[in-house]
Amino acid sequence: MGKLVILDHPVIQNKVSMLRNIYTGSKEFRELVEEIATLLCYEATRDTPLIDVDIETPICKTTTKMTTSKFGIVPILRAGIGMVNGMINFLPTAKIGHIGMYRDPDTLQPVDYYCKLPVDSHEREMFLVDPMLATGGTASMSITNLKENGVRKIKFLCIIACPEGVKKLQKDHPDVDIYTAAYDKMLNDKAYIVPGLGDAGDRLFGTK
Ligand code: URA
Repeated sequence: MGKLVILDHPVIQNKVSMLRNIYTGSKEFRELVEEIATLLCYEATRDTPLIDVDIETPICKTTTKMTTSKFGIVPILRAGIGMVNGMINFLPTAKIGHIGMYRDPDTLQPVDYYCKLPVDSHEREMFLVDPMLATGGTASMSITNLKENGVRKIKFLCIIACPEGVKKLQKDHPDVDIYTAAYDKMLNDKAYIVPGLGDAGDRLFGTK
């Protein structure tokens, strides 16, 4: 089964609390999402393999560690876009794909409308990002989409997860680890996370 990694660091919890607050405006909300995304990215790359490299410092020759891993970031449109800048701050050479999904408001089922990935995605570790892991339907379908496009190493990064979404991802994609800054109690009957932070896309882009 995939790991669930909850970043319970006090400074991250403080940032998540600010995000949850209904009185936090779009500008601050966007900045906080970016900051948390950087920290999620830091944690999700902790297991990156290293190789020994011989170099010369101004003082002497030495053997040091470097990575040859290549990364990709795939935001699920549209709220996932809010996490990209924060991740690029940490992984400036990562390539960026996009997956377009929306949740049908009546059936609550994900509908897939766009997918554009880096051509060498199969050689990269790909981070699928969406601030909210709610029912898990959109995330699961997006992971299936990545796999159908040849991607082999996938991690899912979100700001808030809940048991329903985690359970679905772990069942559908046991090879995918989940990194989240908070793990909330439940979903309500409109598939919003409780207590959550509301609609992440609307709060990021000021559309409500
Ligand atoms: N998407 C959101 O933006 N918020 C939720 O609580 C659930 C899904």
